[in-house]
Amino acid sequence: MAADLSTERRCPRCTYDLRGQLDPRCPECGLTFPPAQWQAGILREHRPTRLDRVDPWQPHQVLWAGLCDLLHALAAPHWVLRQIAHDGPPHAAPLALLSGLLWLVVACTGLLTWATCRAAEVSPYAGLTAALRYHVPRLLAPGVLTGVGLLVLVARPRVSRVSPIRARHVLRLAGWWVPAAAGVTVAPFVLVAAFWPDLGPAVGGAGPAVAAVVSLRGGWVLRGGEGPRTGVRRADVLGGLILLVAAALAQILLPRTLEPPLPTYL
Ligand SMILES: [Zn+2]
Repeated sequence: MAADLSTERRCPRCTYDLRGQLDPRCPECGLTFPPAQWQAGILREHRPTRLDRVDPWQPHQVLWAGLCDLLHALAAPHWVLRQIAHDGPPHAAPLALLSGLLWLVVACTGLLTWATCRAAEVSPYAGLTAALRYHVPRLLAPGVLTGVGLLVLVARPRVSRVSPIRARHVLRLAGWWVPAAAGVTVAPFVLVAAFWPDLGPAVGGAGPAVAAVVSLRGGWVLRGGEGPRTGVRRADVLGGLILLVAAALAQILLPRTLEPPLPTYL
């Protein structure tokens, strides 16, 4: 069953060296692999996410699992790329996307309300209105676009360890990847503005570049991993173009100051 006994291949769960192993199974931890995966030499462990295991009709469960999954994806992007199960329930990926974006809106609104109140010395209500109506949408639009551009770059067999990669794999990946990448994109603006309100707008434009470097680990994610190397694909050009548009959008949309716009007071 082994396609090439001489090539180094490691168990994705315990990193045991599976070279020379005839059965599609890790003798160390017992993880088994589908024959096609074993034959292609691209090994992956499929773990259900928290959102895969909750009842979608229980909003409190969905929100809590969505927050835990978002924090997990922010802390460990490789979990999204290489470990989340691809055969989870169909509702989980849209729920991950929506709950992840909702938590980003809540976090950004809270921090930017505080920052606006400090920077402009306005009432909490004016700060909240300015954050929710002006600052957060202008931050999240380039953030989500950056997440989509990076998704196009990472949706390849070598990175996500699935071959061939199909539309349902990409959709599944998108649910957890896009909100996490959007979170990294908005982080420079929001975190700096929370402590130094005047500096936030100055560093916000670097968000898409920061997200690209952090989530791709400086390009290592695209270069490393198992499976055959591929040259530059059409999808890579598309992903690069989307990232450029996101960076331009960030320059255009990001607020230059946290001062609430005049209509806030009307
Ligand atoms: Zn193992």
